[in-house]
Amino acid sequence: MFHEGRLSKRVMRLMTVGALLVSVVRTGTMEAAAQEPEKNPNEGNLIFWRYPDNYLENQARVAFGTIDEALQANPPQKEMSLLRKMALISLDQLLHDTHNDKQEPFYTFINTRMQRMLDDMERPVKKGLRIYKLYNDGFIIKTKDATVAVDLVPGGPNSRPFISDSIIYKIAGKCDAMFVSHAHGDHANLSIAKAFASRGKLVIAPKGLWTGVNPMIQQLLVADTTVDVPFNELNMTLHILPGHQDDMYNNIYVMEFKNAGTVAHTGDQWNEEDVVWIDKVHEHYKIDVLLPNCWINQMERSLKGFGPKIIITGHENEMEHTIDHREAYWITMKKFERMSGLNIPNVLMTWGESYDYKR
Ligand SMILES: [Zn+2]
Ligand SMILES: [Zn+2]
Repeated sequence: MFHEGRLSKRVMRLMTVGALLVSVVRTGTMEAAAQEPEKNPNEGNLIFWRYPDNYLENQARVAFGTIDEALQANPPQKEMSLLRKMALISLDQLLHDTHNDKQEPFYTFINTRMQRMLDDMERPVKKGLRIYKLYNDGFIIKTKDATVAVDLVPGGPNSRPFISDSIIYKIAGKCDAMFVSHAHGDHANLSIAKAFASRGKLVIAPKGLWTGVNPMIQQLLVADTTVDVPFNELNMTLHILPGHQDDMYNNIYVMEFKNAGTVAHTGDQWNEEDVVWIDKVHEHYKIDVLLPNCWINQMERSLKGFGPKIIITGHENEMEHTIDHREAYWITMKKFERMSGLNIPNVLMTWGESYDYKR
């Protein structure tokens, strides 16, 4: 047993040099370890001593799995149960801890849910609307006659998208048309748009996006004017409202499904001048379900302008943003608590969930 006090100065000096050498060697090893983490031989026995990252990975896997179970047992509703609230806030915590960014438990969580959603899309809609929430601001609206996607993206880097190619392209294959709000990568994905176009399905994009790529990818040609596009074979009419995110064109889509209901999607609406005409949207359209970005400017005023029966917010937990602008579910909950004069329920949903709406 050595005690520091007993060591001679020479030994101490040698030890310091040794420690420096070890630290140099360790730095080299750690760089290699960043690519290929050292395997914890006791992981199977649930002993994580000396392997903190391996501990956190296992904790995330258990937490994501339990959240998935809790959400399935407590599906989206106008009134949220305490258990569902807890599950969504726990999800916020995991998704705002950068330890979990682009790690296996996160990929497993989102892809398990997306595969389940893909299977569920087989279930017919007899009456009204079914709204599926996908990654970020992506939604699919299914009626008896039509299945349309808005802002369908896989999310994440091209090298390894959050939703795997094998799932996202099957989801796209089940849709009849796609509407893209604006040019930002968390809403617009050219490969997905081409997948629609190559199957003879129409993609509507804002002015200036993907011009000349494919005749099935069509732009709103008149800016700052409302445009109506009939989709007779889908028994719906698309109304395109001229929104903006700052100065960027941001199409607001009002989808009128005959005999089923009307759904509006706001994209990344954020523009002070537009709020003036947004005030009057409810005078022109009877909107059943509004899908707003959860950080739309002048939120209470804008939501009242659309005047929907229910709201389903989008754009929470955009994982490509830094954590201060990932927009947690708990922040959306707080915002709705504060809009005391609104009186429109927000059916808060997460990736892969659905909600059936009947008039
Ligand atoms: Zn945007
Ligand atoms: Zn966005």
